Amino acid sequence: MILLLGSNNKHKASEVRQILDEVLKSQYTLKILSEVLDEFHDVVEDGETLEENAYKKAKEYFELAKIPCFADDTGLEIDALNGLPGVKSARFAGEDCIDKNNRTKVLQLMDGLPEEQRTARFRTVICYFDGANAKYVEGICSGRIISEERGTNGFGYDSIFVPEGYERTFAEMQAEEKNAISHRGKAIRNFAKWLKTKKD
Ligand code: IMP
Repeated sequence: MILLLGSNNKHKASEVRQILDEVLKSQYTLKILSEVLDEFHDVVEDGETLEENAYKKAKEYFELAKIPCFADDTGLEIDALNGLPGVKSARFAGEDCIDKNNRTKVLQLMDGLPEEQRTARFRTVICYFDGANAKYVEGICSGRIISEERGTNGFGYDSIFVPEGYERTFAEMQAEEKNAISHRGKAIRNFAKWLKTKKD
């Protein structure tokens, strides 16, 4: 089985490979975009939901490469902000913003909220498209937003998010520890399990 990851991010590819290896052993070959396409540009992620963006990427890259393709989209959903930043997570503070601007905006909007109103979750949606059908799986990591940044590992909102059952932020964890409980890790594992049942 040949699968195309609708991304060119080597770090993401190695996390995906590690999990697919555990579940599917070596019964698949994973390609990233630059291995199968001479030219491509990033799909514009202008969907209104994580599902729409994941589908758009999987479908467009499938059509270019003609290889079954899966793509993901992730958002941080904060209850007190009615689910924001959600699908807008990458550009919450504006088109040209950096991660730090996004975190600052979240902390400002949540300033003074008590702990019980600081619940949030990361949600990753993966869409697989094979030219005929689209299949969606998701992975969720629940937790809370703290009131000031802690930790220097990771990226995005890691330094303001504490996963349920922990006292440390994602940015205070090593990558392996985060990957074992993260939304993305769970989504990839769910995807791998679905692929296995599809193949069997
Ligand atoms: P993407 O869909 O993986 O590109 O994620 C969209 C945005 O969500 C990123 O630009 C980050 O701001 C945020 N994000 C996604 N995954 C994580 C994570 O694991 N930790 C912190 N922020 C994340």
